Amino acid sequence: MTSQDTIFSKIIRREIPADIVYEDDLALAFKDVNPQAPIHILVIPKQPIPKLADAESGDHALMGHLLLTVKRVAEAAGLTNGYRVVINNGNDGGQTVDHLHLHILGGRHMKWPPG
Ligand code: AMP
Repeated sequence: MTSQDTIFSKIIRREIPADIVYEDDLALAFKDVNPQAPIHILVIPKQPIPKLADAESGDHALMGHLLLTVKRVAEAAGLTNGYRVVINNGNDGGQTVDHLHLHILGGRHMKWPPG
Protein backbone atom coordinates (compact mmCIF):
# COMPACT_ATOMS: atom_id res chain seq x y z
CA MET A 1 0.00 0.00 0.00
CA THR A 2 1.35 3.42 -0.99
CA SER A 3 0.32 6.91 0.09
CA GLN A 4 -1.60 7.12 -3.21
CA ASP A 5 -3.51 3.93 -2.51
CA THR A 6 -7.22 4.61 -2.09
CA ILE A 7 -10.44 2.68 -2.29
CA PHE A 8 -10.50 3.55 -6.01
CA SER A 9 -7.08 1.94 -6.53
CA LYS A 10 -8.53 -1.18 -4.95
CA ILE A 11 -11.48 -1.05 -7.38
CA ILE A 12 -9.04 -0.72 -10.32
CA ARG A 13 -7.16 -3.80 -9.04
CA ARG A 14 -10.46 -5.65 -8.48
CA GLU A 15 -9.63 -6.04 -4.79
CA ILE A 16 -13.06 -4.71 -3.84
CA PRO A 17 -16.23 -5.02 -5.89
CA ALA A 18 -17.76 -2.22 -7.93
CA ASP A 19 -20.42 -1.99 -10.59
CA ILE A 20 -18.06 -1.22 -13.47
CA VAL A 21 -19.74 0.17 -16.59
CA TYR A 22 -16.71 1.07 -18.75
CA GLU A 23 -13.00 0.36 -18.87
CA ASP A 24 -10.10 1.07 -21.19
CA ASP A 25 -6.33 1.34 -20.83
CA LEU A 26 -6.50 4.76 -19.17
CA ALA A 27 -9.85 5.01 -17.43
CA LEU A 28 -12.48 3.17 -15.45
CA ALA A 29 -16.13 4.08 -14.83
CA PHE A 30 -18.33 2.59 -12.13
CA LYS A 31 -21.59 3.37 -10.35
CA ASP A 32 -21.35 5.51 -7.23
CA VAL A 33 -22.17 3.46 -4.14
CA ASN A 34 -24.16 6.36 -2.65
CA PRO A 35 -26.00 7.80 -5.66
CA GLN A 36 -27.14 11.43 -5.56
CA ALA A 37 -29.25 11.11 -8.70
CA PRO A 38 -31.01 8.24 -10.52
CA ILE A 39 -27.80 7.82 -12.52
CA HIS A 40 -24.53 8.56 -10.70
CA ILE A 41 -21.35 7.22 -12.27
CA LEU A 42 -17.72 8.00 -11.44
CA VAL A 43 -15.05 8.20 -14.14
CA ILE A 44 -11.48 7.85 -12.87
CA PRO A 45 -8.02 7.68 -14.40
CA LYS A 46 -6.14 4.44 -13.71
CA GLN A 47 -3.15 6.65 -12.94
CA PRO A 48 -3.56 7.70 -9.29
CA ILE A 49 -3.67 11.50 -9.61
CA PRO A 50 -4.97 12.56 -6.16
CA LYS A 51 -6.95 15.59 -7.31
CA LEU A 52 -7.44 17.94 -10.25
CA ALA A 53 -4.98 20.43 -8.74
CA ASP A 54 -2.27 17.74 -8.94
CA ALA A 55 -2.67 17.21 -12.69
CA GLU A 56 0.33 18.40 -14.69
CA SER A 57 0.81 19.62 -18.25
CA GLY A 58 2.01 16.14 -19.21
CA ASP A 59 -1.42 14.82 -18.23
CA HIS A 60 -3.25 16.90 -20.81
CA ALA A 61 -4.07 14.00 -23.12
CA LEU A 62 -5.31 11.94 -20.18
CA MET A 63 -7.48 14.82 -18.96
CA GLY A 64 -9.04 15.14 -22.40
CA HIS A 65 -9.57 11.41 -22.50
CA LEU A 66 -11.42 11.53 -19.17
CA LEU A 67 -13.84 14.17 -20.49
CA LEU A 68 -14.47 12.20 -23.67
CA THR A 69 -14.98 9.11 -21.51
CA VAL A 70 -17.62 11.03 -19.55
CA LYS A 71 -19.41 11.78 -22.82
CA ARG A 72 -19.19 8.16 -23.95
CA VAL A 73 -20.38 6.73 -20.61
CA ALA A 74 -23.23 9.25 -20.35
CA GLU A 75 -24.42 8.32 -23.84
CA ALA A 76 -24.24 4.62 -22.98
CA ALA A 77 -26.27 5.33 -19.82
CA GLY A 78 -28.99 6.87 -21.97
CA LEU A 79 -28.62 10.42 -20.65
CA THR A 80 -30.01 12.04 -23.81
CA ASN A 81 -31.67 14.91 -21.93
CA GLY A 82 -28.48 16.20 -20.33
CA TYR A 83 -26.45 15.57 -17.21
CA ARG A 84 -24.07 17.26 -14.84
CA VAL A 85 -20.32 16.63 -14.55
CA VAL A 86 -18.69 17.46 -11.21
CA ILE A 87 -15.11 17.38 -9.99
CA ASN A 88 -14.75 18.01 -6.26
CA ASN A 89 -11.22 19.28 -5.67
CA GLY A 90 -9.66 19.23 -2.21
CA ASN A 91 -11.16 19.97 1.17
CA ASP A 92 -13.25 23.04 0.34
CA GLY A 93 -14.40 21.30 -2.83
CA GLY A 94 -15.85 18.50 -0.73
CA GLN A 95 -13.51 15.82 -2.05
CA THR A 96 -13.53 12.69 0.12
CA VAL A 97 -11.53 10.19 -1.96
CA ASP A 98 -7.98 11.27 -2.91
CA HIS A 99 -8.05 9.82 -6.42
CA LEU A 100 -9.26 12.16 -9.16
CA HIS A 101 -12.81 11.35 -10.20
CA LEU A 102 -15.46 12.93 -12.41
CA HIS A 103 -19.04 12.53 -11.22
CA ILE A 104 -21.71 12.03 -13.88
CA LEU A 105 -25.11 12.89 -12.42
CA GLY A 106 -28.28 12.45 -14.43
CA GLY A 107 -31.81 11.19 -14.65
CA ARG A 108 -33.30 14.22 -12.91
CA HIS A 109 -33.17 18.00 -13.30
CA MET A 110 -30.17 19.46 -11.44
CA LYS A 111 -30.45 22.58 -9.31
CA TRP A 112 -28.06 25.51 -9.30
CA PRO A 113 -26.18 26.67 -7.27
CA PRO A 114 -24.94 23.41 -5.75
CA GLY A 115 -24.75 23.21 -1.98
P1 AMP B 1 -16.03 13.00 -3.62
O1 AMP B 1 -16.85 13.49 -2.46
O2 AMP B 1 -16.11 13.91 -4.81
O3 AMP B 1 -14.62 12.66 -3.21
O4 AMP B 1 -16.74 11.68 -4.12
C1 AMP B 1 -16.39 10.40 -3.71
C2 AMP B 1 -17.51 9.51 -4.15
O5 AMP B 1 -17.07 8.18 -4.09
C3 AMP B 1 -18.77 9.62 -3.30
O6 AMP B 1 -19.86 10.01 -4.11
C4 AMP B 1 -18.93 8.21 -2.74
O7 AMP B 1 -20.28 7.81 -2.64
C5 AMP B 1 -18.17 7.39 -3.75
N1 AMP B 1 -17.64 6.12 -3.26
C6 AMP B 1 -16.91 5.91 -2.15
N2 AMP B 1 -16.57 4.63 -2.04
C7 AMP B 1 -17.09 4.00 -3.13
C8 AMP B 1 -17.09 2.66 -3.59
N3 AMP B 1 -16.48 1.67 -2.91
N4 AMP B 1 -17.74 2.37 -4.75
C9 AMP B 1 -18.36 3.34 -5.44
N5 AMP B 1 -18.39 4.63 -5.06
C10 AMP B 1 -17.78 4.97 -3.91
